[in-house]
Amino acid sequence: LTGFVEQAREEARGWEERAKQLERTANFDPQLSELYSRRAFDAQLTEAARRCRAKNTPLALMFIDVDRFKDINDTHGHQAGDGVLRVLAAIVSAHAVQCGGYPARYGGEELVMLCEGLDEKRAVDRAEALRLDVSRCPFMNTAHAGQAGAGPEILRMTVSIGVAQLQPGQGASDLVLAADRAMYAAKGRGRNTVAGVSSLAGEPPG
Ligand code: GH3
Ligand code: MG
Ligand code: MG
Repeated sequence: LTGFVEQAREEARGWEERAKQLERTANFDPQLSELYSRRAFDAQLTEAARRCRAKNTPLALMFIDVDRFKDINDTHGHQAGDGVLRVLAAIVSAHAVQCGGYPARYGGEELVMLCEGLDEKRAVDRAEALRLDVSRCPFMNTAHAGQAGAGPEILRMTVSIGVAQLQPGQGASDLVLAADRAMYAAKGRGRNTVAGVSSLAGEPPG
């Protein structure tokens, strides 16, 4: 009987481990594992908006888009593009740790960071530090290393970031739309830039 109980316990531990793995798979992006998935982000956004309304605390969202990412893919190859995204994910998640943000992949080369407790101004400051870190970070493209005549290349990237704060009467999806609109304004201002919604004042999207 003791052996049977021990075996059952062992099986239970195995299932628990499997359940944890499945939860991880469901909540994190399959390609960029430091970032939450879009599905997890949507759920978090709804909850965060409810919490912030109840506590009367600010909620800000950054919408982060890689500049001219298609050119990086076209010039250096899709694998290099994937490498760019991994570097970006690492920088964004490091900033998320510093400011208590929730970093996620919204889709493709578009990332978001939800910042509970930050107002637009403080989120813009954080986004500016993030933008600067990304623009200063050189990284090695080893995708073609080993091929005849192809040494490792040094690549750089920049991002444009839109920042919005949840306004009274707005729904969670309005916050995403506002941050996205600000991101397009940042593109219109020449890219490698941060734009807060309150700085737009009738500016046409980029
Ligand atoms: P902009 O500065 O206006 O944002 O220009 P862009 O080239 O970044 O924007 P565009 O939307 O034209 O191109 C985005 C590209 O991102 C197209 C798509 O193939 C590429 N992309 C999306 N997801 C991935 C991915 O996971 N890996 C790679 N390598 N490329 C991706
Ligand atoms: Mg895009
Ligand atoms: Mg882009």
